[in-house]
Amino acid sequence: MHINSHFAIGVIIASIFHHIFVFNILEFILIVFSAFLGDLDVFFSKYAKDHNHRNLISHSIIPSIIIIILGLVFYWPALIISGLAYFTHIIVDQFDWGTNFFYFPQRTFGPRFLIKKEEHELSKYLAEYKNPSSFFDFKYYKSKISLTIEILLFILMMVSIIILAFEYIFITLIYFLGLYFHLSRHFHLKKIESR
Ligand SMILES: [Zn+2]
Repeated sequence: MHINSHFAIGVIIASIFHHIFVFNILEFILIVFSAFLGDLDVFFSKYAKDHNHRNLISHSIIPSIIIIILGLVFYWPALIISGLAYFTHIIVDQFDWGTNFFYFPQRTFGPRFLIKKEEHELSKYLAEYKNPSSFFDFKYYKSKISLTIEILLFILMMVSIIILAFEYIFITLIYFLGLYFHLSRHFHLKKIESR
């Protein structure tokens, strides 16, 4: 899933638990950031199997387990919920392209709904594009389901922060940065492929 939607999930989780634990601003931000932090591993794609950042340890369940254990040791609710937010990211990523969930078996897990048919001959499909990223990007934006989920998550994010954590509503501005990143990348790839 795209970074803006992971961000939206982070805001939803932080807002719901803010209602119970009353987080300060730094704790609230920590939880929201934990929901999309894993995706910064794209900068380390070259170290990943098949150059796919989802095969890195950051897209396995290991970081969230460590964060949750630390949260329990220090008995810090915000850290436990941050671990939960990180874990949710890994679960959600199972549904579009899958991740290296358990890390050590080094294989991609998940229902992988967006590449179900092409999964076994992926390299053949990737070869049709000048930039292999276009395959994933176009599939994502062509899928009515992923677009519907994007919109629903945006609405849920706004509703939950307005009702449960209105004092932190300015955080939602960062959502648009994530959206801008993906849309500009989308149009850039479209331009490359149409040449
Ligand atoms: Zn991810």
